[in-house]
Amino acid sequence: MKVFITGGAGFIGSHLVERLIGRGDSVLVLDDLSTGAMENLEPYLGKKGFDYRIGSALDLPLVTECLDRCDVTVHLAAAVGVRLIVERPVHTIETNVKATEAVLEAAAKKQKPVVIASTSEVYGKGAKIPFAEEDDLTLGATIHSRWAYACSKALDEWLALAYFREKKVPVILARFFNTVGPRQTGRYGMVLPNFARQALAGEPITVHGSGTQSRCFGHVRDAVEAVLRLIETKSAWGQVFNIGNDEEVSIEELAKRVRAAAGSQSAIQKIPYHEAYAEGFEDMQRRVPDLRKLEKFTGYRPRTPLATIIEDVLADQRAQLAAKR
Ligand code: UDP
Repeated sequence: MKVFITGGAGFIGSHLVERLIGRGDSVLVLDDLSTGAMENLEPYLGKKGFDYRIGSALDLPLVTECLDRCDVTVHLAAAVGVRLIVERPVHTIETNVKATEAVLEAAAKKQKPVVIASTSEVYGKGAKIPFAEEDDLTLGATIHSRWAYACSKALDEWLALAYFREKKVPVILARFFNTVGPRQTGRYGMVLPNFARQALAGEPITVHGSGTQSRCFGHVRDAVEAVLRLIETKSAWGQVFNIGNDEEVSIEELAKRVRAAAGSQSAIQKIPYHEAYAEGFEDMQRRVPDLRKLEKFTGYRPRTPLATIIEDVLADQRAQLAAKR
């Protein structure tokens, strides 16, 4: 199988590349290196079956050329991270909507299959836990930039399902919940790499708000496995799936567990949201995936325990710190 991966130099993308090349498949990566990094792809340069282009997923002729040469597309290129979204809302909305439009338009020409990355953010402030794929979406007001990300991804989902129904393009929508693991950078605000780096450096671990807000963290390798299984599942095409882990932890508890696993003496410092982000920032209190649909269709349920995930992220951050010295 030859897989076209937009955003293949990014965090999830580079893990997908690793897995596909490792099992003998071919990949073609398209990335503009805005948040992705060439160093994520270094191990595959010159390897059999690996090819890449530096360019934008908004470039329709380029996307069409790449997509035509592959059997299936996994569209991961997007503006990610809550910090980036709050700081650059125009970039976020335009990138997320226009790139998906380009990918779907290119796919429609020959009805090529496409997996589109969506996000658990689309559930917004939903209060019914866990979040299931057919639940209503409860987004905040347009004055809060955070929801622009959710809304842009929700629009991507509408558009993809419209292409599926009207133009017979096979699509799978993958709603990734908090996905973490080696190579994720803390630069865009993601909590676990930040906590790991702070704990190892002996700096205060910065917990936003009260720390009672909770998340479920899934290992990126499990997320990749879920995507690959979905691709192989005929009945999954035309459907939406949650991808994540359902082991819930509060952010304060996460800080404590990272600190203990790192053997660190770091203080845990609470920072009000308005200092961490912009004034009027709205967070999600809880976010737990219902994984029954993923399991029903693929027989697979991500299960890497949080303790292993924390160990993996700490090992990666240790290696990054050592490389900088
Ligand atoms: N967070 C935190 N300290 C940090 C970064 C994030 O307390 O240094 C919090 C953030 O406010 C949110 C949670 O951790 O409540 C998860 O944040 P992240 O950006 O990783 O993902 P989100 O679930 O918000 O998309």
